[in-house]
Amino acid sequence: SAKSAGKRQWCHYQPSLQAGLVARHELNENLDTAIAESAFRLYYQPIVDLASGALVAFEALVRWPHDRRGMVLPDEFIALAEESGQIVPLGAWVLERAAQEAAGWHAFSSAARAAVGLPPLRVNVNVSARQFRDAGFVDVVRGAVRTSGIPAESLVLELTESVLMRRDDRVHTDMHTLGELGVGIAIDDFGTGYSSLSYLREFPISILKIDKSFIDGLGLSQQQYALVEGITRIADTLGVQVIAEGIEHPDQRDLLAAMGCPLGQGYLFAHPLTPDQARTFIEQHTTPLGEHTGPGS
Ligand code: C2E
Ligand code: MG
Ligand code: MG
Ligand code: MG
Repeated sequence: SAKSAGKRQWCHYQPSLQAGLVARHELNENLDTAIAESAFRLYYQPIVDLASGALVAFEALVRWPHDRRGMVLPDEFIALAEESGQIVPLGAWVLERAAQEAAGWHAFSSAARAAVGLPPLRVNVNVSARQFRDAGFVDVVRGAVRTSGIPAESLVLELTESVLMRRDDRVHTDMHTLGELGVGIAIDDFGTGYSSLSYLREFPISILKIDKSFIDGLGLSQQQYALVEGITRIADTLGVQVIAEGIEHPDQRDLLAAMGCPLGQGYLFAHPLTPDQARTFIEQHTTPLGEHTGPGS
């Protein structure tokens, strides 16, 4: 019909769509090469104890240095890699690389940290739903722990609700196998989408990361404050640690610390760091507890 012909024509000649498809195709091919050549880089963002300022962990965040596009951020390629399945080898590389990096931190910082009462640094790794569903995933985690030699407790997997929403047997079995292995399991971006507190009793969750969108409104709305405080209290009762994401202002940190939220992450403390910068950050933050907060606080 004229209508469908018109539609087809509209699709065919729409330049932005065409350009989008070309870029997508190109990105996909480059992604394959990048995976084969391990051309990705991991950056590490500090996670700190809000009361003392002590460094507790780093979150590994992947970047893709690209000839023409510069440093490509994960929002531009993770979804694509999930669709194509490329996230499986890419995610395995991220896990192995992050565990190796953590082993390096442990080698030079664990003794100094123990002397001031701090446990070995943890490393948090993001895991996508497609990657978690892959039959080889648990073995990849086990392999990353074994090869790096880090204690399983030093590795934390950050999962989004999209993993937990599929309450099938495989998800349950794998979650419990990982729990028994000793790795930490965090729910990322908590509070967005359909994430539910019932996950906390269904799965061996050790950490809950409250999404930045809740932290943004902390000082502005009494409701937002009550919500974050309530989530923090419930989590604490269940023995689940809370990390507040995207802290940018000192007043947000102070409100969170006052309500008893234990951990935080955000530009206020540090942006994602290169491996070298992360090592310097560790050296600067291995001092006795209570001596980490800045002047005037
Ligand atoms: P995420 O796991 O929720 O990571 C937090 C994101 O917020 C990071 O963006 C981080 O750089 C950014 N961020 C941290 N603090 C602040 C702040 O104070 N203000 C603002 N505005 N942003 C802040 P990034 O590195 O671009 O990563 C985006 C998302 O990509 C991540 O969200 C995660 O879902 C995904 N991702 C990153 N690396 C990996 C990976 O290795 N594997 C998988 N599957 N996903 C990854
Ligand atoms: Mg994350
Ligand atoms: Mg997050
Ligand atoms: Mg996020």
